[in-house]
Amino acid sequence: MSAPVPVLCGVELGGTRCVCLLGTGPDHILAQASLPTGADPAVTIERMAAVLKDWRSAHGPIAALGVASFGPLDLDTTSATYGFITSTPKPGWRRTDVLGPLSRACPVPVGFDTDVNGAALAEGRWGAARGCHSYAYVTVGTGIGVGLVVGGRPARGFSHPELGHIRVVRRAGDGWKGACSFHGDCVEGLASAVAIERRTGRCAAELPPDDPAWELVAHALGQLLHTLVLATAPQRILLGGGVMNGQAHLFDRLRRELQQSLNHYIEVPEVGAQIADCVRPPGLRDLGRSARCAGRRGGRARSRMARSLTAEPARHGASCATVSTAVQWNCRHEIIQGAGNPATGRRSRRSPAPQRLAGHPQ
Ligand SMILES: [Zn+2]
Repeated sequence: MSAPVPVLCGVELGGTRCVCLLGTGPDHILAQASLPTGADPAVTIERMAAVLKDWRSAHGPIAALGVASFGPLDLDTTSATYGFITSTPKPGWRRTDVLGPLSRACPVPVGFDTDVNGAALAEGRWGAARGCHSYAYVTVGTGIGVGLVVGGRPARGFSHPELGHIRVVRRAGDGWKGACSFHGDCVEGLASAVAIERRTGRCAAELPPDDPAWELVAHALGQLLHTLVLATAPQRILLGGGVMNGQAHLFDRLRRELQQSLNHYIEVPEVGAQIADCVRPPGLRDLGRSARCAGRRGGRARSRMARSLTAEPARHGASCATVSTAVQWNCRHEIIQGAGNPATGRRSRRSPAPQRLAGHPQ
């Protein structure tokens, strides 16, 4: 008789909405809740904690909790502020303890990572990066984030990488100052939805494919891909987010920009004959990150959202689940190794005792 499949709980904190899910995987969602990310983090987190408590009462034991959040985050399990959102520009959310209240509401083994790493892990488990051990998930929306998996694990140093803010070589003749409040013309400052709107006066969803601004966006993103290829040799680079959604022309532009930038220095199929398989859209729906105009939602983005909520409810649930439950899978992986931090062998002060979660493949 096979072991029962463990029920997992996932929480994703986004800039505008938070999603909680309960299930055994993307095709078996038991419960789902969504609430706005309010101005007061304590209220928002308390509401999510109440959801988790209700689910424990209604659905029985939960094997693990995964939390994927916007950041930057403190991911150092030995730090006094492990589980906190740290230096976010989001008003009111600096130095917010996310993981503490949620893990007290649901005291089970817990995984914690960035929203983009959660999405990347989900793509590796269930999406377009299945079978890959090293790959990147790039989201191009209000900001630009990169989930980076190297050797099967999210890349870590003192914290998580922030590749959306790398410096890029500017296109000849383009002297626009950029939109990043920290760096001006970093890649986020040149190619995010905010940058596009500030530069053109129109939101990305309303910009026609032949608008010259796309060439500048593609040039900046191509530089990011160039860096990714040279830094980690990813087997796949998946690009999603509100700016990419519905802009199929961008993929051809990006592949071209990447190849021109590399200039045949790297001769492998991934950036050669098979580049369309390597640089491609994610396999899982990227709901909740549709392109937004300042203070309003673009017509096409709104209709995409409506479609996804009405015609494809299963995919909606699946994508949200994968974002968050994949984090738990990673958490479980660390738990099996018996340490909160596999690099140091030190266990998190907050993590419960190691335990094996049966029923999920390695
Ligand atoms: Zn920046």
